[in-house]
Parts: sequence; C-alpha cells; structure tokens
Amino acid sequence: MQPAFAKKLSKIGGLEVHLVTENIYAFVGELGQRSPENLGNNATFGLVVTSEGAVLIDSGGSRKGAIEIEKAILSVTDKPVKYVINTGGQDHRWFGNEYFRSKGAKIISSVSAMEDQEERTSIEYAVMAQLIGYGIISGTEPETAEINFEEKYEFSLGGVKFEIHVLGGGHSAGDSFVWLANQKLMFGGDIVFTERLLALREISSSGEWIKSFEALSKFNPEFIIPGHGRPTTMAQARKETYDYLIYLRKTVKAHINNEGALSTVVGIDQSKWQYMAYFKELARRNAMAVYDEMEFE
Ligand SMILES: [Zn+2]
Repeated sequence: MQPAFAKKLSKIGGLEVHLVTENIYAFVGELGQRSPENLGNNATFGLVVTSEGAVLIDSGGSRKGAIEIEKAILSVTDKPVKYVINTGGQDHRWFGNEYFRSKGAKIISSVSAMEDQEERTSIEYAVMAQLIGYGIISGTEPETAEINFEEKYEFSLGGVKFEIHVLGGGHSAGDSFVWLANQKLMFGGDIVFTERLLALREISSSGEWIKSFEALSKFNPEFIIPGHGRPTTMAQARKETYDYLIYLRKTVKAHINNEGALSTVVGIDQSKWQYMAYFKELARRNAMAVYDEMEFE
C-alpha cells in the first residue's frame, strides 16, 4: 500500500515518522480511537522544514500529545516551529495549539474551522478527557488561531510557498487542505482518509465533502499526506475517500427513492471497502448519516 516515495524513519511514542519528500515529513498516529497510549493523537500530522523554521500541520489531541509531536519533530530537525496550521475543528487538529504557541509559533486556521472549534470546545474536551483520561488531558488549554482567513491564505517561509484552502468542509465545517505547489504535495486534513474508513457524523456533510475533495483533486498532487493514514497517492485517496462518498450517496439516494426506511439503509452493500480498518464499526452508521442528510435534499 505504501507508495515508493515515502520512507518510514522511526517510531516516536505512538507516531510513525515518515520522510515523504525532501524536508517534508508525516507523523502518522493511531488509525483507531483516542486512547491514553496515543494521547489523543489519532490522526496524521505534517511537518515542512525550511531554512527559516518549520511549519507544523495540526497540533495534536492534547498538550501531552503536542509534546510527543515535538519529540517527533526533534528527531528530524532542530529548526523551531514558526507556524502551526489547523486544518480543521476536530480536537486532534488544534488541542496542542497552546503548547506550540508557548514555544513561539503562530497559529493559522480558517474562520470556519475556528468557529467550529469555539462551538465544540467543551464537548470535544469532555469526550477527549473521557477517552484518554483526566490525568492525560490535564494541562491542555484549547486555544484557537490568531491568523484567520475566509477562503484562501498564502504565505512563504524560507522560500517554501504554502496555500491553504477551505470550501464548505466535509467531515466537519472548517476542513481545509494545504497545498505546496512547488513540491506538488497536498496535506489533506480530514478531507482525506485512507486505510481506515471515514466517519460521517452529525456535523458532517457528505455533499460538501465531495466538493472539497474535488477542489483538492484539481491541484493534481503527486504526494498526499492524508488527515488519517500514511502518505499516499491520489489514486488511493480517491478510492478510499471520494469513491466511497460518491457510492454511498448514490446508493442511499436510490434507497430513499424506493421509499426505503432509515432502519434498512444499513443493509446497503458497502463490501468494496470492507478491507479498510473500522469498516464494521462505521459502515452502517455512515449509511444512516447519509440517509439523514439526503432525506430532504
Ligand atoms: Zn480527524
């Protein structure tokens, strides 16, 4: 599955450290649920090292999770983290902001991700505390970004150009992607799930998710660092995120048109994706979420 370009260098705590292309790394966390062992880092994080400092993509699920990400960073560079980009509003994208800010980093997120963070802080914190334990979450201060943008944000550091785009989200409202044109590399955030089945929740929109994925595809990336899963190619990202969403919407729509009920939508055939992790736990729930979303579309 792992494309030839990425090279696993080490494992720091719960994070696999992968060199993706020159000066760009992925820290691949747990594919499964938040736990005391993974400190809430059940996602993939990214690092771009430049001559003037590093840029971190997503700050981890807790303060202790951020410290573990910092250890992974120190395993590949001694450059300080100058910027942290939050690609969305989900806990593991931003609960480590305060830690990196205390080390001098500036935090960047879209306005919609920030609004989502503000709206869900207490519920996200409570769920995280329950899953990783109060001892582990202690010290975590959820803090949002000081640099915000509406649709697109561009900046450069050490000669590396970054573009962040947000449309209507998908998995959650503020989901963004980060494009490095010269490197042809995309950080997909929660718009790209590979290896494990994506999860549609009450706050998700499969319709917006498809639009966000289509916008991301237009850049034709050579390298993708997903929000969940190891560094990969566009082909795998498309098959495991986009094709799944398209199929689910098409099949659920047919079910609704046949006057099928919510209770029977769970029976639709999703077996093409059953090789993915958490298929059993999520496939039926995803069908119900899409039914809820499409019933009145
Ligand atoms: Zn996520």
